[in-house]
Amino acid sequence: MSDPVRVFDGHNDALLRLWRDDRPATQAFAVESPGHITLPRARAGGFGGGFFAMFALDPQVGLDFAIFDNPPYDTPLPPQMSRDVAWRVIMGQAQVAQELDQAGQVWMCKTGAELRRAWNAGDPMAMVLHLEGAECIGPDLAELDTLFDLGLRSIGPVWSRPTVFAHGVPFRYPSDGDTGPGLTAAGRALVRACVARGMVVDCSHMTMKGFYDVADEGAALVATHSNAHAVSPSARNLTDDQLRAIGQTGGMAGLNFGTVFLRPDGRRNAAGALDHAIAHLDRMIDMAGEDHVGLGSDFDGAPMPEGLDSAADLPNLVQRMRDAGYGDQLIAKLCHENWLRFLERTLP
Ligand SMILES: [Zn+2]
Repeated sequence: MSDPVRVFDGHNDALLRLWRDDRPATQAFAVESPGHITLPRARAGGFGGGFFAMFALDPQVGLDFAIFDNPPYDTPLPPQMSRDVAWRVIMGQAQVAQELDQAGQVWMCKTGAELRRAWNAGDPMAMVLHLEGAECIGPDLAELDTLFDLGLRSIGPVWSRPTVFAHGVPFRYPSDGDTGPGLTAAGRALVRACVARGMVVDCSHMTMKGFYDVADEGAALVATHSNAHAVSPSARNLTDDQLRAIGQTGGMAGLNFGTVFLRPDGRRNAAGALDHAIAHLDRMIDMAGEDHVGLGSDFDGAPMPEGLDSAADLPNLVQRMRDAGYGDQLIAKLCHENWLRFLERTLP
């Protein structure tokens, strides 16, 4: 059997999972399971790296996936989270990232050139450190340079929760992302600061107004883990106009494998969910262009489709692409080359 096509992925929550695990992170990462991304599963499936998110999990407010069993649904946005609590949670996950890097299980990449070196070396997997929800940063952005020095190179100003910077979309189906206000003045300053440092600004959980505000501040439009609204009308997915804007600004959209964002009916049901992946990719490519679409698995953060139960199953998605008539060149672009080129252009 030939080696699997290698994947550079737009989004996963492995750091959150490892931070919550009682075992040392390097130990939990090295065993087969549980977890969508572990070293053995990554090797088996060709998972060669990606954006690794740090997420400010609010100990007070959980998200109950059972809501996704009964569309239509509309979950109220959770309250804003305290900066102090968020900072402790994020520093815990930054520590996990450092431990994996120091143990040689990942290669934390801080420049585009370093990322290409890591990718070409092949092992360990490449990590670009991402912040999903900027609750740990104050409106004066004082924490930004500390985070940058820790290796952070990508920020989503919001998860599906308000921050001092922007407003997230609720988990609402059916709906488009026009669910609330855009960037605040502090949010515009944060985007400009990211652009100045060569950091990625991720709009995946942001309202439609916020999304266009990000472009106004000069950033390439990126949605690391969002799908085509025309196929699955979730507030987390991107309208045709948003996808076109991503292409026009030289940005990227990453295919989210989460069943609730893949399925046209918005349900959690894993059976048959993978059947819709190609329809999303087709639409995303038609609207954004084939150089502006990649993968954004949401591994370790979302319910996965049958047949794509972990990183070990990535070849099943590649096979769907082949079955749909995608050629080797397009498959390479979607699986890694577009993200790598984008990051080479963006990171300092
Ligand atoms: Zn997310």
